[in-house]
Amino acid sequence: MRHAKILRLNKAGTPIDWITREEAATLIVKGQVVWALGEHTFEIRGGYNRLGQQSVLMLPSILASDGSVKLSDFVPPLVNSYLFRRDQYLCMYCGGEFNADNLSRDHIRPMSRRGTDSWTNVVTACKRCNHRKANRTPEEAGMQLIAVPFVPNRYEFFYLANKNILADQMDFLKSQFSENGRWSYQ
Ligand SMILES: [Zn+2]
Repeated sequence: MRHAKILRLNKAGTPIDWITREEAATLIVKGQVVWALGEHTFEIRGGYNRLGQQSVLMLPSILASDGSVKLSDFVPPLVNSYLFRRDQYLCMYCGGEFNADNLSRDHIRPMSRRGTDSWTNVVTACKRCNHRKANRTPEEAGMQLIAVPFVPNRYEFFYLANKNILADQMDFLKSQFSENGRWSYQ
């Protein structure tokens, strides 16, 4: 709860950022919040007035802020922590579940053989499987992938980027998950 963040949308309802309570309070005070969603609310306490009363602001768990709704094409950054979360900390070859220390990024087509470092050419692999596969394709190594790698969409990315998502925020993001994402993040 203490680490929970607030999901900021643009006024068209597209996720823009995870923000802190302080950042959300600033947006509200500046009158930049156009609507809010979610069942959960946070209370934030501010300064005292001359009568000794402390100001209290209620913050929504999801808010939409004013401003441009133009968005550039979304490509989620390929970072191991997001990759491992996409693949549910499972080795995509042996199916075992590992902690992050024992996982690695495997390039399905090795980079030394013109494989790209991109979401659709990488999977989570345990160090043992990665070592065994070495500089080969899965076919050459006789190893089969247990799931097809996919590029997280914007909603899936916001899920991957926050480990302390509240239930109402999760419901909002989940409504726009792809078929792949739905399979993975149940
Ligand atoms: Zn493995």
